[in-house]
Amino acid sequence: MEVQYLNLNPQNQPLKQALLSAAENVIDSSWYILGKQVELFESQYAKFSNVKYCNGVANGLDALILALRALNIGQGDEVIVPSNTYIASWMAISYVGATPIPVEPRITTYNINPDLIEAKITSRTKAIMPVHLYGQSCEMESILNIAKKFNISVIEDNAQAQGAKFKDQLTGSFGNINATSFYPGKNLGALGDAGAVTSNDNELMKAVRILRNYGSERKYHNETLGINSRLDELQAALLCVKLPHLTAWTNERIEKSKQYHHQLKGIGDLILPATAQYATHVYHIYMIRTARRDALQNYLNQHGVGTLIHYPIPPHLQQAYFALHYKKGSFPIAEVIAKTCLSLPLYPGLKEEEIDYVCYTIKKFFS
Ligand SMILES: *Cc1c(COP(=O)(O)O)cnc(C)c1O
Repeated sequence: MEVQYLNLNPQNQPLKQALLSAAENVIDSSWYILGKQVELFESQYAKFSNVKYCNGVANGLDALILALRALNIGQGDEVIVPSNTYIASWMAISYVGATPIPVEPRITTYNINPDLIEAKITSRTKAIMPVHLYGQSCEMESILNIAKKFNISVIEDNAQAQGAKFKDQLTGSFGNINATSFYPGKNLGALGDAGAVTSNDNELMKAVRILRNYGSERKYHNETLGINSRLDELQAALLCVKLPHLTAWTNERIEKSKQYHHQLKGIGDLILPATAQYATHVYHIYMIRTARRDALQNYLNQHGVGTLIHYPIPPHLQQAYFALHYKKGSFPIAEVIAKTCLSLPLYPGLKEEEIDYVCYTIKKFFS
């Protein structure tokens, strides 16, 4: 049997006719940038996220950059960020000229450990950027309390956690301003690049609206140095078709995570993902850990099972961050995660017998 790590056909193919007719409408409208479809998606995604405002942008990295710029964060400023995250969280901070200040995650949830944040706050700290990694909510209450105590902002990186909750509240609605990505493989994926900023703060969102379009609110009147990071009408129209299915897809991901959990518990030295009591985990990624990671990945590969590593090199050890002078051992928890983590196939439409086969193969490896 062959099981791909990710297959988008089961979610996109059943919607093909609806996607085609949405695309046809956009083609026929002859209006392709910043129009009705973008406005419609923005209002629908704001409603889904239970926030007042949403601005569509070109991708998740830009969403983070625009959120930071809206908060006036730049040269000389510091932003607290997890040591264990996708590189985009760090790069957005660096891109605006600020410095990422890494904080280690809890080894249980893989998310930023709020107990370690205060020690990293200085007079230059402007914001905390929690990342709801793999689809599980960070400890937002503690993070918001710290932000309040030190009068700094919170920017959620919600790229992996659309629809996740901390207690009863959706991620992407806690921070002063928040970013998400609709990269095709995310829980809500476009058919190309796309992203969004969400917030309840009208002033900040006005800044994003202007910054995403050359710093201009009125055509050819440029108030500030903006960028071109517009969500296009075509992707917005396709996202409008897909958004109503997100909750069902999320439930399916959670259901499949339970099947994995049931079959994999107690095998070898495997550590399975744990959902904290306060969190909903939307399983963007089903990540397991083992000391024999590389051997297990090879074995699965030989038996037709695709897996990925999220992520093999933590940001502080990437060549891009050579200038920050971190070394091996600087962030041991992020490093041990990078050495031992393995992501198994999990997506809407993955079949029960495919999960059985993945688990059977893992059991065979450890026996
Ligand atoms: C995917 C992702 C991003 C960036 O999104 P793009 O649309 O690919 O730019 C940012 N942060 C995290 C945690 C992500 O997983």
